[in-house]
Amino acid sequence: MDIIDFANIPCTSGAMEYLGKSDIGSNDLCTQATFESIRSTGKERVLEALKDGVMKYRRYNKLAAEKELLAYPIARMIVSCINNNYITKRYALAVAKSSYEHIKALKSAVLLKELAADFGISIRFDDMMNVSMHFTDYIRCAHVLHEPKWKLLNRTVKQGTLMISRDDLARLMEEAVRQKVESGLPHEVPKDIQVALEPYIAEVREIINTRTSKQGFSKEGFSEVIPDCFPPCISTAITDVQANVNLSHTMRFAMTSFLLNIGMAPDNVTEIFKASPDFKEQATNYQISHINGASGITYTCPACATMVTNGNCPGRVLCKKIEHPLVYYRRKVWVENKKRVVQKQV
Ligand code: SF4
Repeated sequence: MDIIDFANIPCTSGAMEYLGKSDIGSNDLCTQATFESIRSTGKERVLEALKDGVMKYRRYNKLAAEKELLAYPIARMIVSCINNNYITKRYALAVAKSSYEHIKALKSAVLLKELAADFGISIRFDDMMNVSMHFTDYIRCAHVLHEPKWKLLNRTVKQGTLMISRDDLARLMEEAVRQKVESGLPHEVPKDIQVALEPYIAEVREIINTRTSKQGFSKEGFSEVIPDCFPPCISTAITDVQANVNLSHTMRFAMTSFLLNIGMAPDNVTEIFKASPDFKEQATNYQISHINGASGITYTCPACATMVTNGNCPGRVLCKKIEHPLVYYRRKVWVENKKRVVQKQV
């Protein structure tokens, strides 16, 4: 892989090594006037992710690629300093999407094998450039893809391996990139660097605040509903939707029923789904009114046991002995109200 590949898929170990060997240290990059345009590029990439959910796929020459790669750690530092799930997920997804464009354009089997190996995936090519991989590697990337074609049931597995097309490989690699970028964020940023990057951080933060309040995920938007009291499963799902990450059908159902069960107006639920990559207003409204009792049955959010089975619980340890997301919410609201009463009395 060369500098152009590194600029397009900046989370590879090759790209990290390249940066490690660079004469420009991260302190200089963040503080010296000479590197202002690199810092601005880093900030612009975060803003692109935030506003568009994707980063434009750019065809760099060597010089531009070097600048782009240097801007990557700046963007990561900005995202880390903001330390907000929404921007972390959205940024990781945008890096993954632009990496996908580059991976799709790669023709060399050797290069693709090297790239996949960097993400711990071993692949082989046949004469038609179809790819075979172990089913466990496949599941690791494909489990979050909800179209039927990605279900393992719809693939032929022979002796533990399955065949996919080169385009499918690019899509799976996109997911591998997303997971890698997201899992590395936020990271520790030294105090002096935080101070040096403050103007860029402040600009991004301001835009996040405007967007989240427009999308309705603010305390004001929910009126009676208290988002601070949502259980981790529901908060994570809302963050995912707003960061443009697709939800599974089961999580979509759980989130919708939960929000309706606690009294959120159907229109506000629709608003939340608007950021979803596959948002279709008519279908969303139909599903919401169906869950809300239009067909005679009002559905209730699934209990924790079902959420765990469906892979929708981010961690039972977070909720101690809670058995139902609605119970979690009710208890938290009760505690919050109690605190408010005490505060009023003081
Ligand atoms: S334990 Fe229950 S309430 Fe807590 S995150 Fe998991 S599913 Fe949600």
